[in-house]
Amino acid sequence: MSKLSGRFLVTGAAGFIGSHLCETLLNQSCQVVGVDNYITGNPENIRPFLGNSNFEFIEQDIVEPLTGLGKVDGILHFASPASPVDYARYPVETLRVGAIGSDNVLQVAVKNQCRILVASTSEVYGDPLEHPQKESYWGNVNPVGPRGCYDESKRYLEALTMAFHRTRNLETRIIRIFNTYGPRMRVNDGRVVPNFFAQAISGKPLTIYGDGSQTRSFCYVDDLVAGILAVYQGDHSEPVNLGNPNEMTILEFANLVKEIASVDASLEYTPLPEDDPKVRQPDISKAKSLYGWEPKVSLEVGLQRAFEYFKTQVKP
Ligand code: NAD
Ligand code: UDP
Repeated sequence: MSKLSGRFLVTGAAGFIGSHLCETLLNQSCQVVGVDNYITGNPENIRPFLGNSNFEFIEQDIVEPLTGLGKVDGILHFASPASPVDYARYPVETLRVGAIGSDNVLQVAVKNQCRILVASTSEVYGDPLEHPQKESYWGNVNPVGPRGCYDESKRYLEALTMAFHRTRNLETRIIRIFNTYGPRMRVNDGRVVPNFFAQAISGKPLTIYGDGSQTRSFCYVDDLVAGILAVYQGDHSEPVNLGNPNEMTILEFANLVKEIASVDASLEYTPLPEDDPKVRQPDISKAKSLYGWEPKVSLEVGLQRAFEYFKTQVKP
């Protein structure tokens, strides 16, 4: 993969994945304009870049028109609440950022005639009836359930991006991200990785939703970032899955967190949230064959790094 150059717009820059993208671009000596309204982000995530003359930050809701950005050479569009707890709290904002915010960002790409990569999600597959999930699967989504605001926002994002690609002659890339974890996740964002680590560190029981037999497949953020940059630089405009195919039950995952954190925490069972997908595992053969990309960081190593981070965020 070649090094990137030029001036990039990163939306959702103060979020978990967005801040890692900014860091990687800055390390490649790119210029970065980060935009975020902090709805689910954290100013601490971008604080280390503020002294870097290649980094500019604009605090803005991207649902409002993006003016005064200056010329950009590429766009990475990551702004959106992403955790089920966050999008349940902000359902209207989630739909608006996926629809109006994405429209605004795509217009910036048209104006600059530059390439744009947009962050979609495994949630477009809903509670999948096909397993593992390939890009060709159209999904099983409940539009009016509690996850509908996120799933439909991202399905609209994909449709809008393809429409701009087909009729506005825009170079677009779509990635479908599967559960990704690592440092800079908000400790109270409600997702399973920060929840379990915060509970383990503070001596509380780990909360298992349902019976814990539902599965997920966890990808370390550095692997995801490498995949994002590979897809961005490639020439494929259809969606590409990015994630780690290492599938496990949430119960198995809880036991792994207990091992990593060296705690003997008990488990507290609570009801499974409505429409919680029962299984999830990416088929990454497309990313492998197109870009030779696959995750390299083992779950044990990735979780150890995440644990070191969460220890700085949570009081024992
Ligand atoms: P995050 O909540 O940490 O980051 C999202 C960022 O977007 C936050 O900083 C938030 O403040 C910002 N944002 C939201 N709405 C905005 C708006 N209207 N204007 C400006 N900024 C806004 O979440 P994340 O995990 O880093 O996810 C980033 C992207 O990746 C999202 O688009 C998400 O849907 C996608 N994704 C993430 C995962 C994952 O496992 N982390 C999985 C699938 C998809
Ligand atoms: N989960 C859990 N306990 C928690 C948080 C989440 O058992 O404290 C489960 C949740 O029901 C889901 C899985 O862990 O089956 C992953 O949840 P997360 O919110 O991280 O993301 P999702 O994959 O559902 O988008």
